[in-house]
Amino acid sequence: VRARVMEVTESPEVGYEDIGGLEDQLQEVRETVEMPLDRPEMFDDVGIQPPSGVLLYGPPGTGKTMLAKAVANKTDATFIKMAGSELVHKFIGEGAKLVRDLFEVAREHEPAVLFIDEIDAIAAKRTESKTSGDAEVQRTMMQLLSEMDGFEDRGDIRIIAATNRFDMLDRAILRPGRFDRLIEVPKPDAEGRELIFEIHTRDMNVADDVDFAELATLAEEASGADVKAICTEAGMFAIRDDRTEIRMEDFRSAWEKVNAESDGVADVSK
Ligand code: ATP
Repeated sequence: VRARVMEVTESPEVGYEDIGGLEDQLQEVRETVEMPLDRPEMFDDVGIQPPSGVLLYGPPGTGKTMLAKAVANKTDATFIKMAGSELVHKFIGEGAKLVRDLFEVAREHEPAVLFIDEIDAIAAKRTESKTSGDAEVQRTMMQLLSEMDGFEDRGDIRIIAATNRFDMLDRAILRPGRFDRLIEVPKPDAEGRELIFEIHTRDMNVADDVDFAELATLAEEASGADVKAICTEAGMFAIRDDRTEIRMEDFRSAWEKVNAESDGVADVSK
């Protein structure tokens, strides 16, 4: 069961230099996750506890998972990922046990960064309905909180959670000693998009006429994941035209394609 729902990576191949924009967010992640792992004595000497858990929140595809992977890489920690939705939807009745397993695996792999994606799936506000599904979700969340409350004994394990639905969260998980450091990870601005274009084209054969600043302005509203998709699509347009060099026109067509597709997605969710 474990193997199917948990992703365990000894050393994720994401570095800080792969993340475009998000300087402030990176700084905060370094202070709250990297420092306690690398220099725990600093916190002892100062006489404060590092934050127990860090919550990253913001729209999909903005780099939350990347931030968690990069800090695990930097600190030589094992990266352990699990999605909240898998905790409760995949194996009904198993949620609390999976949470226990998750922390056990983390303890076996110390130092570890435990990343819980879609935390809203187990930590949504209580609803009126008392279906068995809700009780199961509650049990899973209680188990997570109780594992976190025993934090001091857990040594070198840092917990990062992520959500696209901050508004849905039960405030109980944000109390001190739980996810008490909140970091907003927004969509990139034009400057951020330009940096992300540069990162994702590092290994691409880009023609001289390609202007990333112009593309960044064009691709308004694009997330980091959208920018990555535009770069890949641009490469596909070049291949279709039997060229190995990617031109500005390829990026323009790619933007139109990705933009049309993401509009489609947005319509469905309305
Ligand atoms: P979700 O909420 O959907 O899980 P996320 O915020 O965790 O999304 P990531 O998985 O980190 O998003 O990003 C998806 C992909 O998009 C990354 O693998 C990366 O290629 C690209 N990407 C997103 N944001 C950035 C960024 N700031 N810099 C560089 N690449 C980015």
